[in-house]
Amino acid sequence: MKIFTLSLMIGILVMASGCTSPKQEQAPSPLAAKIKRFAPTVITGDVSRLSPGDREALKKLVRAAALLDTLYAHQAWSGTDSLRARLEADTSAEGKERLHFFTLNGGPWSKLDQDAPFIEGVPATKPPQANYYPPDMTKEEFNTWVASLPGPEQKKATGFFYTVRRNPDRTLRLVPYSEEYRDLLEPAAALLRDAAALTDNASLKKFLTLRADAFLSNDYYASDVAWMDLDSPIEPTIGPYEVYMDELFNYKAAFEAYICLRDDEETAKLAMFSKRLQEIENNLPIEKRYRNPKLGAMAPIRVVDEIAQGGEARPGVQAAAFNLPNDERVTTEKGSKRVMLKNIQEAKFRTILAPIAATLIDSAQRPKIAFDPFFTVILAHELMHGLGPHSIVVDGRATTARQAMKDLSSAFEEAKADISALFALQYLIDTGALDRTMEESMYVTFLAGIFRSVRFGLNEAHGKGMALQFNYLADEGAIVQDTATGRFTADIPRFKQAARKLTAEIMTIQAEGAYDKAAALISKYAVIRPGMKAALDRLSDIPVDIEPLFPTIE
Ligand code: ZN
Repeated sequence: MKIFTLSLMIGILVMASGCTSPKQEQAPSPLAAKIKRFAPTVITGDVSRLSPGDREALKKLVRAAALLDTLYAHQAWSGTDSLRARLEADTSAEGKERLHFFTLNGGPWSKLDQDAPFIEGVPATKPPQANYYPPDMTKEEFNTWVASLPGPEQKKATGFFYTVRRNPDRTLRLVPYSEEYRDLLEPAAALLRDAAALTDNASLKKFLTLRADAFLSNDYYASDVAWMDLDSPIEPTIGPYEVYMDELFNYKAAFEAYICLRDDEETAKLAMFSKRLQEIENNLPIEKRYRNPKLGAMAPIRVVDEIAQGGEARPGVQAAAFNLPNDERVTTEKGSKRVMLKNIQEAKFRTILAPIAATLIDSAQRPKIAFDPFFTVILAHELMHGLGPHSIVVDGRATTARQAMKDLSSAFEEAKADISALFALQYLIDTGALDRTMEESMYVTFLAGIFRSVRFGLNEAHGKGMALQFNYLADEGAIVQDTATGRFTADIPRFKQAARKLTAEIMTIQAEGAYDKAAALISKYAVIRPGMKAALDRLSDIPVDIEPLFPTIE
């Protein structure tokens, strides 16, 4: 009943924001149907408890985040700006629709449709090199060039913060982000410095000052460390971070911003989990030599409410949580920080997961679906990114699992974080740290969550990783589909076993740096089989994600 009411409300919201009057019974355009998959949802946070200085600082940070929208557009594709200008000039109803969907996707390729183009005259396939590398460069050319470079230059070439461009003689060269994007990084740095001057929080002042320096020096190390040490009511994440958009190598980082407010009570509650991390690492189902006997310093966890965003944070499916930084120099030394976007997660749970469960989970298990296990599994997912093999040795050479897994590293790492989260929570249940009443609820809610993620499409790391897990778990008998109703049940004992087994398999492949084994696992399991296809078809009326509307900043 509640679910019905919610879906109805979403329907009304979409209609109200549409351009045709409800009286004219027009079939929605194909683009309107695509847009409808994102439910407009108001996302708020409580700014009233901030100091006056922090409130002023917040305004500067929101403006800096907005600059990253433009910067990210440059990174995504060389044609983004001119196409946006063309779309903005068209004020017809269809024109507004196209611009809306363009904004939702950060470009003219639909993320939920395997990157299919939805505007005429753009390349038929989204450039896998984004705008990080020359469009005509092949992977082979890059690899041959990198092999010819001296050691420090090789690191830059395969590192996060350099684009690759062509010289007039067609040879390749590196350009630091600080040069490539100077026109936007300079004003962004100025806004961060303004905010640093306004806040009365010392750790925030330090981070913002160092991050402003990094924008201009291209050296992010000190500011990443300062971000790890942030202890502030405002929790901003702003800079070049994720490598998903570099579909050639997963080397280059896209700019993004999450401007958030910390939830102190939840943060304290969740920090308790972190105290058990070494114990979980020591009990991972992999060979002892692959475990890390001494994890880095206690990794901080933050639970926050998001109140503004920018850059790669904006288009497509909204992040529910993230684990940063990605730079192994920082994670080896300091671990990484988990930021849980609680107001986003609650919005997704209400708007999407509850109706998915009502459609696809067997009625006997459906009462087990709940927000608490949903939140806890995502928390554990973020924690598990920090565990398992990272710095590895292949053929006597020190490298990282991320480098060894190359283009598969993102999907593989996401699958690892999901499945090992179940392993870890089961371990905490079995050792009495968590209540056993959570057990069934956790697996059933996870099962419902798989459908939510796979709907994101297999071109996206999380969706691909989830498809892999679904088929693996189904083959192990952990997920059972009722042939009469088409609904799914989690077989709890088999789920436990299979989660442990897949955790072992993925982590061992990462520890060995065995790219071929990773590729074999992905090509066998990271696919949409007919049972999943039929299930996904039944979800067509449920939004795939939210379109966040942030009134706080207005
Ligand atoms: Zn993840």
